[in-house]
Amino acid sequence: MTTEHVKCLIIGSGPAGYTAAIYTSRANIAPVLYEGIQPGGQLTTTTEVENFPGYPEGVTGPVLMDDLRKQAERFGADIRSGLITKADLDKAPYTFTVDEEKEITADTVIISTGAEAKYLGLPDEKKYAGMGVSACATCDGFFYRKKTVAVIGGGDTACEEAIYLAGLASKVYLVVRKSFLRASKIMQERVTNHPNITILFEHNAVGLYGENGVEGMHVVKRMGEADEERYDVPIDGFFLAIGHKPNSDLFKPWVKTDEVGYILTEPGTPRTGIPGVFAAGDVADPHYRQAITAAGSGCQAAIEAERYLSMKGLL
Ligand code: NDP
Repeated sequence: MTTEHVKCLIIGSGPAGYTAAIYTSRANIAPVLYEGIQPGGQLTTTTEVENFPGYPEGVTGPVLMDDLRKQAERFGADIRSGLITKADLDKAPYTFTVDEEKEITADTVIISTGAEAKYLGLPDEKKYAGMGVSACATCDGFFYRKKTVAVIGGGDTACEEAIYLAGLASKVYLVVRKSFLRASKIMQERVTNHPNITILFEHNAVGLYGENGVEGMHVVKRMGEADEERYDVPIDGFFLAIGHKPNSDLFKPWVKTDEVGYILTEPGTPRTGIPGVFAAGDVADPHYRQAITAAGSGCQAAIEAERYLSMKGLL
């Protein structure tokens, strides 16, 4: 196995990772960034981003991520495709395995591995994976033009996915387990007023059916109540939008996490408590989870890494 040593290893390629790469490369630290499974991170599956400062007309997620990547590369950041498959944070320099075939050691580490979509846990989600079940409307919506789809969830993600799909599909059911939406007011208004979207409040999807792909879903209205109703809704696509799980499993033997798995850092900083190891972006943020907050924490992590290297005489 080949071994390489770097001053700063950045794990993950969302807004946090790329921003950390911009700052560390401009500080001449020669960072190496591994992109992970989804280069560009979650935003590559988003359509319009209207709230990232600097884009008065809005920008698509893939364009924003491409811009951030190019900005990091302009200053010499070494951005590589590859997945960190093992970590050892016992002592500095920290050791990692890339794709089971290469070892890399690092004086500082910025964990910016983000979070990934959650599923309901229904056996039918696996049975129909790639055959009508998706957790990414932007990736798969194209296949449902003029069809009927369901989006599960009541948060901003669910509303955003429902609106996106409503522009392609002829009908969208938004399946919400509570009697209200958790999403922001503006998103609530958009889904409520959209002619192609029907909101099924107090509904749970409990299964799917279909011969060669999804043809419908089994739903329960007011589950567990005296007036509970069970019925079927014909659909062609089933989109999950019920939140995310932070990608922290690899680091859990060393860093502290909350009960969901978000990495705990010293309040207001990206410091994990392990010298030279920092966490930035959604993997450490159960509260804000925005591209701009992720980018901000990536910047903080980069500045911390630079100060740590300087303090240790490693620059
Ligand atoms: P949220 O955690 O905000 O919402 C998850 C939704 O899924 C809730 O309605 C929740 O229901 C529902 N849910 C969770 N588990 C289940 C289940 N097992 N069965 C049925 N429903 C379930 O996640 P989001 O991904 O929507 O948003 C995450 C963060 O990102 C938020 O802070 C959000 O504001 C932000 N965001 C911002 C956007 C923007 O500004 N453009 C776009 C997308 C996200 P319940 O309410 O009952 O718990």
